Amino acid sequence: MPIYEYHCEECGTTFDKLVRSTATPVEVECPECHSQRCKKHFSTFGTVGTGSSSVSAASCAPGG
Ligand SMILES: [Zn+2]
Repeated sequence: MPIYEYHCEECGTTFDKLVRSTATPVEVECPECHSQRCKKHFSTFGTVGTGSSSVSAASCAPGG
């Protein structure tokens, strides 16, 4: 589930909210002043990917 970042226009606080569906607009409320005048920010979560490292199981074990 994607997490969107919101910015309150009343008090100016920034908070993130977990959105289940991106199709239906979700009503957000500021956790500080409980205002609904919040604007959604574009988050970069999910777009960037860190390089994955693959581990090869090739070790020489003594004895056998
Ligand atoms: Zn607020």
